Amino acid sequence: MRVCVFCGSSPGRSVGYVRGARAFGRVLAEAGVGLVYGGASVGLMGAVADAVLEFGGEVIGVIPEALVAREVAHEGLGDLRIVSSMHERKALMSELSDAFVALPGGIGTLEELFEVWTWGQLGIHPKPCGLLDIDGFYRGLTSFLDHVVAEQFLKPVHRGMLLVEPDGARLLARLRAYVAPDVTKWIGRAES
Ligand code: AMP
Repeated sequence: MRVCVFCGSSPGRSVGYVRGARAFGRVLAEAGVGLVYGGASVGLMGAVADAVLEFGGEVIGVIPEALVAREVAHEGLGDLRIVSSMHERKALMSELSDAFVALPGGIGTLEELFEVWTWGQLGIHPKPCGLLDIDGFYRGLTSFLDHVVAEQFLKPVHRGMLLVEPDGARLLARLRAYVAPDVTKWIGRAES
């Protein structure tokens, strides 16, 4: 199994985010689960990759040519794939992975998470999506998502596809146990 991790190219304000990212990397490595990520050596991206490597796990980095210098491509990866665009990066990361997890991050992280979750909602893939809610970072987002459900722009079944956990080992267990709901009904069509 390989988990694709989306997370900040910044480390964030609190050291707790780096600690949480490292702890998740360790959980993956010790469970024999490979990491697929954006190939950077900076921020939480670097922290999670370093931890997986330190604990003997598999890491595949996927980075677009244009970001190799800007995000400081990780030099310690046995497998770094350099692609030509952001779209290619996301397509390859998704192809290589069995599940997706977002750790704290900025708009790049959110964009990546929302894209794969949307694909899941449309039934394009059956893979689970999770949020590792380190130190309550995603509290505001999860309550906004509840608002989106309450306002009937998102169905509870689709909201439930996003697994939210503060603990990495528990999140991994839920990813493994995930079975995609039947989302073959056309979104928005009245259900009988
Ligand atoms: P951030 O969360 O903004 O620090 O970015 C985390 C990762 O997402 C970095 O590898 C960025 O290159 C990537 N990223 C930034 N913007 C986008 C975007 N619009 N679409 C996909 N990935 C992005």
